[in-house]
Amino acid sequence: MLNRVPVQPKPIDRYLPLLEEPLGQEISRLAASLRGTRVLQLNATSYGGGVAELLLSLVGLEQSLGLAAEWRTIGGDEAFFSVTKQLHNALQGRPSPFTEEQKTRYLTVNRQHAAELDGYDVVIVHDPQPAAIRHYAGRGHATWVWRCHIDTSAPDETAWGFLRPYVEEYDAAVFTMAQFVPPDLTMPRMEFIPPAIDPFSSKNRELPGDLARSTVAEFGVDVERPLLLQVARFDPWKDPKGAIDTYQLVKREVPAVQLALVGSMAGDDPEAWEVFRAIAHDDRADRDLYVFTNLVGVGSLEVNCFQRTATVVLQKSLREGFGLAVSEALWKGVPVVAGATGGIPLQLQDGVGGFLITTVEQAAQRIIYLLRHPQEAAQIAAAGRRVVTEHFLLPRLLRDELRLIHSLLEGAHA
Ligand code: UDP
Repeated sequence: MLNRVPVQPKPIDRYLPLLEEPLGQEISRLAASLRGTRVLQLNATSYGGGVAELLLSLVGLEQSLGLAAEWRTIGGDEAFFSVTKQLHNALQGRPSPFTEEQKTRYLTVNRQHAAELDGYDVVIVHDPQPAAIRHYAGRGHATWVWRCHIDTSAPDETAWGFLRPYVEEYDAAVFTMAQFVPPDLTMPRMEFIPPAIDPFSSKNRELPGDLARSTVAEFGVDVERPLLLQVARFDPWKDPKGAIDTYQLVKREVPAVQLALVGSMAGDDPEAWEVFRAIAHDDRADRDLYVFTNLVGVGSLEVNCFQRTATVVLQKSLREGFGLAVSEALWKGVPVVAGATGGIPLQLQDGVGGFLITTVEQAAQRIIYLLRHPQEAAQIAAAGRRVVTEHFLLPRLLRDELRLIHSLLEGAHA
């Protein structure tokens, strides 16, 4: 069963003051010509992770602009999501023995959902979990787009060899960056569109008074002392262990420092529990190390509070499709120290927003520097906010997607 995710229409008017005039005009023009177009966004989870975050806002805006936009998720049991998490890891380069049984499980769930995909003009399928649906849905009249959010530049050969023929049946593929395209992929059309954050979502909107600090204090964190924060799923690619090692090095020089790891349990990520258990062990051994999840009430608004209260945000990722959490922190004027990987360098450069690092030692050194030079840290963060304002706010993403839909449909009707 495909689940329909309820979405509130989001009026574009609120966003207009943030937009350069030509961008606003282009969005209105494209939306007018796409009024009534039936667009389906299809992914694997309505909660946790960047894709869910994006779709909630994007679909709301598309609806309010007059498109018949819908968001649906595929269902599946834990065994299916174990397979898709393995596929995700393999596509990001982890060697993987992808067995016949796993392939069958993956294809069976994809086939079961395909029958429900009638009546759309455009179907945008996100990431590998539902990618084979297009194969089973048959030719129909819809235009199909595969939107890949992960770094597939050096995928495991077995896994990619399995998935590639299914991807190549799409009319177009969208990657965050050109570097992410697997070497042997052949598509009729490819586009490169980075994600963006919604400045008015509960995750990112301005908060009144000292609500952020008082909320964080309620979780037991001492808001008078420096706070490092990593907001990321409990996923080995996000390197929570590396974040803890970094914090421990920083603590030798700055004993007052605290670390909060905030990680939601995404519906399609069974691996998260294993990683969480390993980290929760360290959490018990150190009073200044906090591990929070959505299961103890850290939802979007609380993440907003943590990001606004943090002294430095850490994103110690080893692989990263984009890393929305980086732009989220920069938007709030907080400096970020982050792995020089995937989409992160699009958002952040040394001295503009924070620092790029590859090792725990470098990360610790940069954090210590920022903690000891608060004025410079504020200037660096302000420069990062300007980058986000210009390139990584939702209307730019909306414009890019509407452009793509418009041009694909024009081609289809030509
Ligand atoms: N996130 C959250 N709560 C958490 C952990 C993550 O709301 O406990 C959000 C985070 O703020 C960001 C998204 O999940 O909006 C993660 O997106 P990102 O692109 O950083 O990574 P992904 O999970 O898609 O790999």
